[in-house]
Amino acid sequence: MSAFRNSPNILFETTVTATRRLSPGFVRVTLGDERLRDLAPHQLDQRIKIMLPVTGDYPAGLRAGLPEQGWRREWQSVPDRERPWLRSYTAYRTRPAAGELDLDFYLHQPHGPASGWAAAARPGDRLLLSGPHIQAGQPGYGVQWEPGPAARVLIAADETAYRRCGASCPAWGRKCGRRSCWRRVSQRMPPPSTT
Ligand SMILES: Cc1cc2nc3c(=O)[nH]c(=O)nc-3n(C[C@H](O)[C@H](O)[C@H](O)COP(=O)(O)OP(=O)(O)OC[C@H]3O[C@@H](n4cnc5c(N)ncnc54)[C@H](O)[C@@H]3O)c2cc1C
Repeated sequence: MSAFRNSPNILFETTVTATRRLSPGFVRVTLGDERLRDLAPHQLDQRIKIMLPVTGDYPAGLRAGLPEQGWRREWQSVPDRERPWLRSYTAYRTRPAAGELDLDFYLHQPHGPASGWAAAARPGDRLLLSGPHIQAGQPGYGVQWEPGPAARVLIAADETAYRRCGASCPAWGRKCGRRSCWRRVSQRMPPPSTT
């Protein structure tokens, strides 16, 4: 657990405010909460963790505001059969001023816990997630996009990495004045106009 002692991530409690089917294979879930104003908008391929309840509701010890070291300790103390599923996602669009965040879920067939949750998500549903607090600094924590001095980059990604790449490439292009070209190769992916 000491690995998370310096983590900038805390637990946020959010509510689904909207869902939108982007393509046959993707759904965008918009989450809202006042406290999401404190979610750092690092963008790029910023990784977050989401928690899906196993028994319909979350164990009481998993409270908003817990730092990563604390929520992981609580999470591990929950009996196996009740412990929420933990999955990695990309904080695709953060809108701190509005207290909102978009997550784009690839809908696995058959669904796993996270993609099944997203496929059925409705406004009002709760979702706990762990992400960076704006005052914690460390904008590189959870960001793995490091093209270095490369002038040209070719990325091949499956659907689950579509948003990680889609968030990183245009930012990289803007930073070094290069054009980024982003192609989808499957009709199950969202068209570029939905980025
Ligand atoms: C840093 C990071 C960021 C990510 N960002 C995103 C994102 O923004 N959007 C996104 O959609 N995904 C993203 N992913 C991928 C996402 O975390 C996985 O797809 C996740 O496992 C889905 O969870 P699930 O509960 O729906 O399915 P899981 O239970 O994890 O299973 C995934 C699929 O694989 C199948 N499966 C499971 N085990 C096996 C097996 N042994 N053999 C064959 N099939 C199997 C399941 O049936 C299901 O269809 C990201 C991953 C990482 C690491």
